[in-house]
Amino acid sequence: MFPLADASFHFLMPYRFCPLCGSSRFEVSGVRSRRCADCGFELFQNASAAVAGFIVDAQGRLLVCRRAKEPARGTLDLPGGFVDPDETLEQAVCRELTEELGCTPASCRYLFSLPNRYEWGDVVVPTTDCFFRCTLPEGAPLAAHDDVEAICWLPLSDVRPADFGLRSIACAVERFLRLKIEN
Ligand SMILES: [Zn+2]
Repeated sequence: MFPLADASFHFLMPYRFCPLCGSSRFEVSGVRSRRCADCGFELFQNASAAVAGFIVDAQGRLLVCRRAKEPARGTLDLPGGFVDPDETLEQAVCRELTEELGCTPASCRYLFSLPNRYEWGDVVVPTTDCFFRCTLPEGAPLAAHDDVEAICWLPLSDVRPADFGLRSIACAVERFLRLKIEN
């Protein structure tokens, strides 16, 4: 099973004031919630959805990105990102790959999901990372954009999960290599 370090961790610990009325009496009310003692508003921490794509070319090479930004800046990553409000997972993976690679995928097929914790400054955001097997139009030119510093193709035999800085991505790469998922 996917390892999560500290099950007792409270995601809303950094949120000290009620986001509705500004009261400082914004108290822990459950393992994933805080409730305002003044206005009664209760905030629950749910997981944010995120997507990432596995793209393998005809030569059996995996498309990998080098992260341009924190967290895990400079480490390897898969193309992807957070799902916007009012968007499906399928739309999100298509949009994120288009934004980051400069190329719209020809197809995206859902594979599996993994829970993760995304560190964003002092805040830790729980995420559900959803992984897709994607293909690109043949011969399409690629260009690194957005959160991506560089794009490269790695032979699957040279792909090492430990080189991927985000934990769920590393776990997903390990699982993908084990599954030897075909096109
Ligand atoms: Zn309040």
